[in-house]
Amino acid sequence: MASELEAVEHRFALPAMLFGDSGSFTIMPASSSADEIGYFATLEVEDRDRLGWDMLGDNKEELASMLSDRFLFKGKWPELVTALCRKSPPDSLTSWPFFSVPHLSDWSSKIYRVILIGDATQAIPPTGGQGAAMALEDAETLVYVLAEVFADDNAKQVPSAQDQRLAYYMRRWDEHRHARIAKVLDFTTKNGTLRKSSPHFYEQAAKEWLIWTAF
Ligand SMILES: Cc1cc2nc3c(=O)[nH]c(=O)nc-3n(C[C@H](O)[C@H](O)[C@H](O)COP(=O)(O)OP(=O)(O)OC[C@H]3O[C@@H](n4cnc5c(N)ncnc54)[C@H](O)[C@@H]3O)c2cc1C
Repeated sequence: MASELEAVEHRFALPAMLFGDSGSFTIMPASSSADEIGYFATLEVEDRDRLGWDMLGDNKEELASMLSDRFLFKGKWPELVTALCRKSPPDSLTSWPFFSVPHLSDWSSKIYRVILIGDATQAIPPTGGQGAAMALEDAETLVYVLAEVFADDNAKQVPSAQDQRLAYYMRRWDEHRHARIAKVLDFTTKNGTLRKSSPHFYEQAAKEWLIWTAF
């Protein structure tokens, strides 16, 4: 697609996130040589049940029309955005609805033989780009904790002492991860709210200014 778009002028470097009153649009290189680009648009749409979302994902014509409606017929979007909307074959479009997951208070079994990490503990909405980062952080910090617990050769001789040591360290790890994930979840939620377009002109202008200054 990039070669077809070479003639399209744009004044921004990629990756670029664009915010406007009909949605947000992100364009990024999709190959290491940057001769291919990809994009995604975040749209607020009416909620539906699971089947409704699946049906929307299969209805490529409706997805194309949703895209055109927001980025061709509404607002004043850069030429690269309108060209992408016009040239993308409907079959290449995918819908990716967000689902929230129930809060899970315990991430480990009672004696720490089963420990959950990553999305299994708390799937984080993609609006902050932090889900994989948190899964990796969970894994890395857990490795430090387990290495510390099992490094003590004396404790290994007494299984109950080893278990106590494991419980002590895991409780501290658990507290640390809960606090960290809560903070990231809060950031992600605020980010998602900021990305939503506002029906009020001044509120939208304030949001766009806030995003502009933040970046
Ligand atoms: C649209 C979107 C955009 C995102 N953007 C970002 C971003 O920019 N930055 C970021 O950091 N994160 C992002 N994320 C979030 C990120 O993808 C996840 O947080 C991350 O993949 C979680 O990793 P995980 O290993 O915990 O789970 P997963 O990646 O879901 O891995 C779980 C694996 O377990 C397998 N599995 C499930 N059940 C079974 C079973 N019974 N037996 C065997 N295998 C099983 C699954 O097939 C899967 O491969 C995004 C997510 C989405 C949906």
